[in-house]
Amino acid sequence: QAKKSGRNRCTAFHPGLHEQTSRHLRRASELHGALERNELRVFYQPLLSLASGEVIAFEALLRWEHPIEGMLFPEEFITVAEDAGLMPAIGAWVLLEACSQTARWTQDYSGLSISVNVSPHQITEELIVHVQSALAASDLSPSQLVLEVTESAVVAIANVSVLERLREIGIRISVDDFGTGFSSLAQLQELPVDELKIDRAFVQRLAGTEADAAIVTSIIELAHTIGLNAVAEGVETTAQAAAVRSLGCDSGQGYLWSRPVGFKSVPALLQRLKNPEPSDPRHPSLGT
Ligand code: C2E
Ligand code: MG
Ligand code: MG
Ligand code: MG
Repeated sequence: QAKKSGRNRCTAFHPGLHEQTSRHLRRASELHGALERNELRVFYQPLLSLASGEVIAFEALLRWEHPIEGMLFPEEFITVAEDAGLMPAIGAWVLLEACSQTARWTQDYSGLSISVNVSPHQITEELIVHVQSALAASDLSPSQLVLEVTESAVVAIANVSVLERLREIGIRISVDDFGTGFSSLAQLQELPVDELKIDRAFVQRLAGTEADAAIVTSIIELAHTIGLNAVAEGVETTAQAAAVRSLGCDSGQGYLWSRPVGFKSVPALLQRLKNPEPSDPRHPSLGT
């Protein structure tokens, strides 16, 4: 392929790119057995109601515990997995793992939801089967499962009926990284979705210019106008939490409250967030 264009051929000999390509190939072959070798992990990050300060959900975030390189983040292997055609299998495993683990802590915290990211490649008839078997195996109610699809993916989905059928089962659909894709108001109204997750780039610039605040304000208004929930992702400071809360955003997620943690750390995390120190400025209901 690189031979087709002169420009690409030049860059193909760039040592940096060459290194990147061989790492990509090595990762792909290692990833083939990662699932069987039990090297994949699901980490959990809480989402809080900005009105009550309660944890209402977790987002499941994939990690790869590489035997040599240590814990790898999705940006280092998700594209590799997608290109190698491994995402349907890995995605099915994430669904099963996340639903089963969530079912265990909802014994004490009923009503917690779990949000699972899905790649555009996963949005096929097969996804419905994987979702139904994860729910059946974990005994989780469909209303506790949310699937996150990025805005750029959701507008490009050919098979909207898959999303429609998932919603008929009772699963909610969330539009991830909202504001970075190019959906139109008309498209959004047509799409079978329940929630908009404001991309963290906008949330993190909230303390900056008026223009950034205007973007967040209009996304929240847009969501509410068409009957969707608004979630702010990447909330890192109490000022950002107070800002999105005062703009009427429904829930928040970010390092302010917690980084994604392993399954075993979730009960302690729920305890900490349930009983915050009276002076803890992170508690949303204690905000401005
Ligand atoms: P995402 O779905 O938008 O997830 C949010 C990302 O932002 C996560 O990165 C999370 O750790 C990070 N984050 C959360 N709060 C903060 C904050 O306050 N500040 C900053 N700077 N970052 C924050 P992570 O875990 O590296 O995941 C990156 C992306 O990989 C995800 O973005 C998602 O698109 C994808 N991904 C993760 N797990 C899966 C999966 O199981 N399947 C698929 N298809 N994609 C996944
Ligand atoms: Mg997400
Ligand atoms: Mg996101
Ligand atoms: Mg993102």
